[in-house]
Order: sequence, then structure tokens, then C-alpha cells
Amino acid sequence: MKVMAAVKRVVDYNVKVRVKADGTGVDLSNVKMAMNPFCEIAVEEAVRLKEQGVASEVVVVTVGSSGAQEQLRTALALGADRAILVEAADDLGSLAVARLLKAVVDKEQPQLVILGKQAIDSDNNQTGQMLAALSGYGQGTFASKVEISGDSVAVTREIDGGAQTVSLKLPAIVTTDLRLNEPRYASLPNIMKAKKKPLETLTPDALGVSTVSTNKTLKVEAPAARSAGIKVKSVAELVEKLKNEAKVI
Ligand code: AMP
Repeated sequence: MKVMAAVKRVVDYNVKVRVKADGTGVDLSNVKMAMNPFCEIAVEEAVRLKEQGVASEVVVVTVGSSGAQEQLRTALALGADRAILVEAADDLGSLAVARLLKAVVDKEQPQLVILGKQAIDSDNNQTGQMLAALSGYGQGTFASKVEISGDSVAVTREIDGGAQTVSLKLPAIVTTDLRLNEPRYASLPNIMKAKKKPLETLTPDALGVSTVSTNKTLKVEAPAARSAGIKVKSVAELVEKLKNEAKVI
């Protein structure tokens, strides 16, 4: 069984992002980039399925500029067998990304596609759902457990107030939540080996997909700065401040 994991290159989660002075987006110059943390969990799950003998091949795919090869090499060092870069603009909307992923799914025919539940740059939480809708496959989102048996997969989902288990017929789409697994670190020998693993580059044109978007970003701005908190000495003082300063009661 072939498993595909979709990974996105994003600003490293340790970086405090800054908005460009002209308000056209986030300043990415000299900023450390990394694999989206939820995508690391997707790759880890795919690699574990291979180690358990459930998956025979793990293919990782990203949509983005050539710089995203770095994250594909990381995924290869973590245990993926081969990688596909769909070379396109870094700021494509979710629907365009989902259409491109659908074209790759049609070409590769994986039985399971694992994505992160959300990318920490745009926080969209929609690409996996869109891919499921476009491909007509069942979806198990926010997965905390994935168990394959025969031609179906049981996905335990994190939902408000508990967990829900859904059974999906393969092929299926899964999106990862934090508790699914703890991703490994790549060892130096595996980083060296990953350099020799196959990395194919495709284009939207070759896949027959238009990336024209109907959405336009008008302006990006940083959240308003908040003043520091204070400690009050008594409940009476708290009530007085809530009433007269914050004016919320
Ligand atoms: P989002 O819907 O943007 O929050 O992203 C959810 C997940 O979709 C990510 O964790 C990735 O697995 C996948 N994804 C989003 N954008 C891309 C991209 N450009 N290339 C590959 N996978 C992506």
C-alpha cells in the first residue's frame, strides 16, 4: 500500500513573525523556514506504517517554490522513500493547493493521504478537507490514532469534549492532530542518505491544473499591541478597575 504525506514549508514556529511595512504580507527575508509541525506528524505516521509493514512506499509531496526542496529532503531523511515538488508560488490559496494535490493523487494512486490539520502560517485548516471533497474520498480529520485493517482505516478524531472513531474505506484522507505521534529527529547518516533519494519536480501546467485564485489579500496587519497586565491587591480593587478602567462591568 502506498502512503502519501503532504508537507508545507512554513516559517519556523520559534520565529516571531513581522508584517512588512507596506502591509502586503509577512516579511520572509532572512527568516528560518521549517516543515510545518503537523506535517512532521503526517510524515512520522506514514513512516511508522511502513515500519509496521502496512505501507510499502511513502511518497512526500509539497507545493511551493524550489526552496521547499529543503523540507522534502528533511522528510526523506525521516524515512520517506521519494519526494515530489510541484513547483509553484509559495502563497497559493488552499483550493489551488488542493487541486494540485488531487492531480498528484490521481497520478500516484496512494491508498492513504496524510496531511497536517493546519499550516501554522495561514492557520487555514482546510486543505485536507478540500482534497477529500475533490477526490471523493472519505476524510478523518484531527486524527489522534490511525489503524489500517484490510481495505479500511479506523481514525480516532479529536473532537470537542472527547474522541470519535470513524471508519473510512480506502483510499482515504487523514489529517493529523498533535497527539497522533511524536515525530523523530533525523539522524546524520539518514540526512546523508536522503540526498540520494529521488526528488521529482512537476509543474501545475504538466498536471493540467490552473492556479488562478479568486481570492485576493487586501492588507496584512499585526495585531494591536496590548498593555502589560497588573496584579491587584484585593477583590475590591479588581472590581473597581473592571468598572472604572476596563469599563467591562
Ligand atoms: P492548511 O489547510 O493550509 O491549514 O494546511 C493543512 C495541511 O495541508 C498542511 O499541514 C499540509 O499537510 C497541507 N498543505 C497545505 N499547503 C500545502 C502546500 N503548499 N504543499 C503541500 N501540502 C500543503
